[in-house]
Amino acid sequence: MPFTAVNDASYTQRKVIQLYNISKSYDGHTALADVSLDFLEHRTTAVIGPSGCGKSTLLRVIIGLVTPDTGKVNVFDRNLSTDTLIDTRRRIGYVIQDGGLFPHLTARENVEMMARHLQWSDADIGDRIHSLALLVRLPEDRLDLFPVELSGGQRQRVGLMRSLMLDPSLLLLDEPLGALDPMIRAELQTELRDIFGSLKKTVVLVTHDLSEAAFLADRIVLMRNGQVVQSGQIEDLLERPAVSFVSDFVNAQRRHIGEAGAGAP
Ligand code: ADP
Ligand code: MG
Repeated sequence: MPFTAVNDASYTQRKVIQLYNISKSYDGHTALADVSLDFLEHRTTAVIGPSGCGKSTLLRVIIGLVTPDTGKVNVFDRNLSTDTLIDTRRRIGYVIQDGGLFPHLTARENVEMMARHLQWSDADIGDRIHSLALLVRLPEDRLDLFPVELSGGQRQRVGLMRSLMLDPSLLLLDEPLGALDPMIRAELQTELRDIFGSLKKTVVLVTHDLSEAAFLADRIVLMRNGQVVQSGQIEDLLERPAVSFVSDFVNAQRRHIGEAGAGAP
């Protein structure tokens, strides 16, 4: 059996996702225009940009829900194709804005669905659900409720549990906190950061909030009109903007922060 020693440096540099020249249009309207990006193992990347710039399409391309018109997608060192799609998807956790839960199933049924499909034992499923509920801080009695009976924050916690059930090494989160009120959002941001830190997953997180991106991610990818405008750390965007749009975007977000902080006279 061939064995290749891997030193720490190269291990942390493994590219979990490689996108090469990805383009996608809908009826002549461009969603992604020649996007090439790598995502490194165990890193958290935030994809940010104005509404309609292609963030969700980018995640859908990575998980194979959208087939690009041109370009190549490698996930876990394999080209994403009909042969690899099902196996690859099982290794990816995917959470969308409202949690994406099935309304006719209880929270528990939502979380355990894939494990049941894969014929895990009741004991294994019970153990996993117990540890995930602890991880996302969801009281276990909530699991017997239907999504409509849960608060927005609880639904997101259940969505996160479901995405983590099969212990995927890659997590794709599409504005997971977008629908939450500010207090719950701040609480979940802190918890997500703890979870990302403790689980050592590769995470791609879509957000439209620069402070959330800076808080949660090692790297920020700023998009506009289906293209990557700049990719780097928050300091790069703030101090070394690649084009004027980067400063405009940053300043617009700062202005919101300033307005929110201005408060009552
Ligand atoms: P974002 O998530 O950044 O808001 P999206 O990736 O959802 O943006 O969409 C990018 C662009 O592609 C938008 O102009 C959107 O209207 C369009 N688009 C996305 N999905 C579809 C679709 N299924 N059919 C038609 N147009 C789409
Ligand atoms: Mg979107």
